[in-house]
Amino acid sequence: MGAKGWFVLKLLMFQGLFVSRPQEDFDFFYLVLQWPGAYCDTTRACCYPTSGKPAADFGIHGLWPNYKGGSWPSNCDPDSQFDRSQISDLVSSLKKNWPTLSCPSNEGFKFWEHEWEKHGTCSESVMDQHEYFENALKLKGKANLLQTLTNSGINPDDGFYDLKEITNAIEGGIGFTPGIECNKDPERNYQLHQIYICVDTSGTEFIECPVLPRGRCPSKLQFSKF
Ligand code: AMP
Repeated sequence: MGAKGWFVLKLLMFQGLFVSRPQEDFDFFYLVLQWPGAYCDTTRACCYPTSGKPAADFGIHGLWPNYKGGSWPSNCDPDSQFDRSQISDLVSSLKKNWPTLSCPSNEGFKFWEHEWEKHGTCSESVMDQHEYFENALKLKGKANLLQTLTNSGINPDDGFYDLKEITNAIEGGIGFTPGIECNKDPERNYQLHQIYICVDTSGTEFIECPVLPRGRCPSKLQFSKF
């Protein structure tokens, strides 16, 4: 092979290092927990899963790989499709702790598939599909959010609470500052919608957030009934 041939070959190999590998690096995870009362109390409809009304507890929305700059990777591996046979032992726990609320009413596989394909496939360098769902479930248990809030006198009773009070209560429970996200009910009151807790790249330990999401919460917000 002549000098030109070698050059082209090296160029192709160099490119291959960057181009042919699925993007799998990230800096940390957000464990995103959702208050079902807020998801359902908007102008958009919600539907209970086929197994019935979920418990009045925070549910998992997702475990999202994120960059410390604030952006995130998504849909990293089209070849790794959601495979329900890999999580059959987790389904009853997922129905309880990761309930779907989208319409039409369904079992939840659509939501879990969406979360795996959009976010989970970006963490394949550290966990497979079973570990992705298992880690999220374990982290939700460890966060024990509702108990922590009610222990501080913060209850889902349609009352208004200080954002600082909510943040401090959770910080007291998990040891790190969470991100709090609000949405608006049909009367345009801001309400507690989602809580973001930061997790290390192994997907097992809480950490201080490298960056907090923009939460759109005012200083006083409603904790809606469910
Ligand atoms: P994501 O695409 O992971 O950033 O999350 C946003 C998507 O998740 C939106 O399409 C939401 O409608 C959907 N979503 C959020 N919470 C739920 C839920 N509890 N059940 C079903 N879909 C949900």
